[in-house]
Amino acid sequence: MKQVLPGGVNRSDLKLSDGRTISYYDSKEINRSAADQRNDEAQPGIGHLRLDPLVNEWVSVASHRQHRVFLPPKELCPLCASTSEKLTEIPDSDYEVVVFTNRSPALTTPANNWKLPAINGLDTPNADAAGACEVVCYTPDHGTSFAKLSERQIRTVLEAWKDRDSALSKLPFIEQVFPFENRGEEVGVTLSHPHGQIYAYSFLPPRIEKMLQAAQDHLKKTGRALLDDVIKREIKDEKRIISQNSEWIAYVPFAARYPFEIHLAPKRGVAGMSELDEAQSAAFPAIAKEILARLDGVFGIEMAYIASWYQAPVNSGRDSMRLHWQIVSVRRQPGKLKYLSGSESAMGAFIMDLEPEQSAQQLREVKL
Ligand SMILES: [Zn+2]
Repeated sequence: MKQVLPGGVNRSDLKLSDGRTISYYDSKEINRSAADQRNDEAQPGIGHLRLDPLVNEWVSVASHRQHRVFLPPKELCPLCASTSEKLTEIPDSDYEVVVFTNRSPALTTPANNWKLPAINGLDTPNADAAGACEVVCYTPDHGTSFAKLSERQIRTVLEAWKDRDSALSKLPFIEQVFPFENRGEEVGVTLSHPHGQIYAYSFLPPRIEKMLQAAQDHLKKTGRALLDDVIKREIKDEKRIISQNSEWIAYVPFAARYPFEIHLAPKRGVAGMSELDEAQSAAFPAIAKEILARLDGVFGIEMAYIASWYQAPVNSGRDSMRLHWQIVSVRRQPGKLKYLSGSESAMGAFIMDLEPEQSAQQLREVKL
């Protein structure tokens, strides 16, 4: 199946040998037909969701994930394109951007009549871990990183995110779509090939629930979207802004939790990824590259980071919650990581040892 997306991106869908779909996103028309030559059976196993009654939060239990590959050398990388000697997850001998379902997903397609159980303390039943976990390969080049992609390549990645957001949002069991990237062994990366993931949850993750509450309260009180007012404050205060262009603004948030934390938001707020228009999509790659280059420039080393897309849930808060990208780095000095210790892990109370204004200044002063 072929489809033309905004930004001149062509999508071609093919099947892998175990039944999973692989979508190729190309910046030009390319005939994608390479067949998967592996003899794979469908991967067994769906995990389950259990309720933690102390906080009424769902925990996804996926014991079938224990045998995942861990940091394989380049010759064994499953995210490089296939060659005559090595068959990988990508059957073609080259690609631009591809998306496919994770081989050992923590969340997966449930039976047709699946429903999230109502929360009822200790009597809450378990449920199949409904949802989706997808891999987004940014480039066939094993040794590069998102920040070093060309603007054209980043646009293609953005169109892939938007396309998957819109497809996953249409599934009846999905409540939240979350594209993200972990970079660096420090934040638990198991494959060094430049890639991100998309988790689509069948429940509202705790942090989204909190954000939704705050956004709805603000909308009720003021009639405005909370993030619009947050951006207004950043523009007024000025000193935490890192960069901006006609459509996007990047800043260190007023109450940053990590030594280096950058938020990037569209100036004209949208609820979710698939609502970004042409002007916003076209202006994203340049500023995305710039802020990640600034992050790497602070200490002159590739920073380990977690880059997360926050957006409104699929079925609620579309009028109050706004799309934005949060990039947090766990590095505070060369050779020093910020570990989430007692206060952060046990209490969820963050201690910042750098003024957000200082951190913004350091990021601004990086020579690009
Ligand atoms: Zn690779």
